Amino acid sequence: MAEPHRFYPARWWELRENNRIKCLLCLRECDIAPGDCGFCAVRKNIDGELVSLSYGRPVAMHIDPIEKKPLAHFMPGTTTFSLGTFGCNLNCLFCQNGALSRGRYGSPGQARYVSPEEIVSAAVDQGCRSVAFTYNEPTVFAEYAIDVAKLAHQHNLATVLVSNGYISSAAATELFAHIDAANIDMKGFSEEFYRTMTQASLAPVLASIKLLYDMGKHLELTNLVIPEKNDSPQMIDDWLQWVEDNLDKDVPLHFSAFFPAHHYFDSPRTPRETLFAIRKQAIAAGFTSVHLGNIS
Ligand code: SF4
Ligand code: SF4
Repeated sequence: MAEPHRFYPARWWELRENNRIKCLLCLRECDIAPGDCGFCAVRKNIDGELVSLSYGRPVAMHIDPIEKKPLAHFMPGTTTFSLGTFGCNLNCLFCQNGALSRGRYGSPGQARYVSPEEIVSAAVDQGCRSVAFTYNEPTVFAEYAIDVAKLAHQHNLATVLVSNGYISSAAATELFAHIDAANIDMKGFSEEFYRTMTQASLAPVLASIKLLYDMGKHLELTNLVIPEKNDSPQMIDDWLQWVEDNLDKDVPLHFSAFFPAHHYFDSPRTPRETLFAIRKQAIAAGFTSVHLGNIS
């Protein structure tokens, strides 16, 4: 399909003095000078207009089992047409998808334009039952995700979001309205963990989780367990208590094993025994759906 535009106008921003832009898509609220990109590297100030470099530029597209997202209790046994772009608004030291999250759009032809119509048509042709926004952080391509999701619903496809949940409430309210199921990655239940390991904060992530729950979306939660960083029984207990207090004990929980990657090699791979102990702790606390992932 011919490329209809090179730069897609971004949403959720305001103009400041000297053509600087404050991006309001996520809580980082980047102050972006003309010619520069924000922290996520896919939202650029061009002469006082914010554009999305990732709109229509997926760099990863695959057909995956829905269980791989992971979603254990949403349309089981089906496949989902999964796509991701470059860019992420967090910078996790332990990122296990750095090629995409820290990837950059260089020359305009680097990633060919793929329209929402093409995505949905491919999903239908391949017999998928849903489209999943995943791999990098999909909230940084929220405009594209919304357009794909609208079209997907017209073709009876469900929509899935796999996200870090670090998004402003204004943008979240709009994006989540177009999503049927989400898996949110809660990376470690403390502000210190988020500050030192992800360059972000926990509170907005919890707000996104609560919002999805209150909107009645199918919600599952993932926690990558990193030895001696976020695996203490007390921290796990605090997380379980938060879920119990704010959601309910039937929300599916996923605990997955860490392996050294990207810029973090100070912890070993998560021992299976650690994950087994966490599952036991969660079940003893009354949680009904506890899943372990990446176990070797
Ligand atoms: S979405 Fe990107 S540009 Fe916007 S505030 Fe977040 S990191 Fe900055
Ligand atoms: S949020 Fe996910 S994609 Fe982004 S840096 Fe962290 S682990 Fe990588």
